[in-house]
Amino acid sequence: MKIICIGRNYADHARELKNDIPAEPVIFMKPDSALITGNRPFFLPEFTQDLHYETELVVRIHKLGRHIEERFAHKYYGDITVGIDFTARDLQQKLKTQGLPWELAKAFDGSAVLGEWVPLAGLDIQDLHFHLDKNGKTVQQGHTADMLFNVNQIISFVSRYFTLKIGDLIYTGTPAGVGKVDIGDQLNGFLGDKELFRCEVK
Ligand code: ZN
Repeated sequence: MKIICIGRNYADHARELKNDIPAEPVIFMKPDSALITGNRPFFLPEFTQDLHYETELVVRIHKLGRHIEERFAHKYYGDITVGIDFTARDLQQKLKTQGLPWELAKAFDGSAVLGEWVPLAGLDIQDLHFHLDKNGKTVQQGHTADMLFNVNQIISFVSRYFTLKIGDLIYTGTPAGVGKVDIGDQLNGFLGDKELFRCEVK
């Protein structure tokens, strides 16, 4: 199983980090050791002083495919959830400045919180609202209509390079409002008004 993540997929978030709006999807990956499921806690790593949450819609692949055309892409996923792409922002900034890959800042143990799966059945994947509460206060809100590259375009693009397998996950990028977490914070992720995960920072 692989975890494919999209960077800079919401214009307001690209702007808040002073990045250009990308002409093609920005892709990076996390290993399966990054996953946090079942509302387990997140242990703040010692190598960062600026650990950020990025709340994202996550799509699970349920059909093997490569070179998938955009118009057929919807057949390749069925379940969705919300998750967090934890990012060591200080380390990422250093790697970006040096022109180096982002993995140390984004793919470490526990960097991929994953919520409970919800069947997409009947829902429009590009018309979903999601949000993150930190200590009971909403800190980040997203609407999937605002994606720069929609889910079908992402699947079509990614599958030109990587065979998509059953169980692969796609983190579809974060809207504006990313921010720092500290030990003791309680994070709760919602799709609409349904809570799909909770995660305590330890
Ligand atoms: Zn992200």
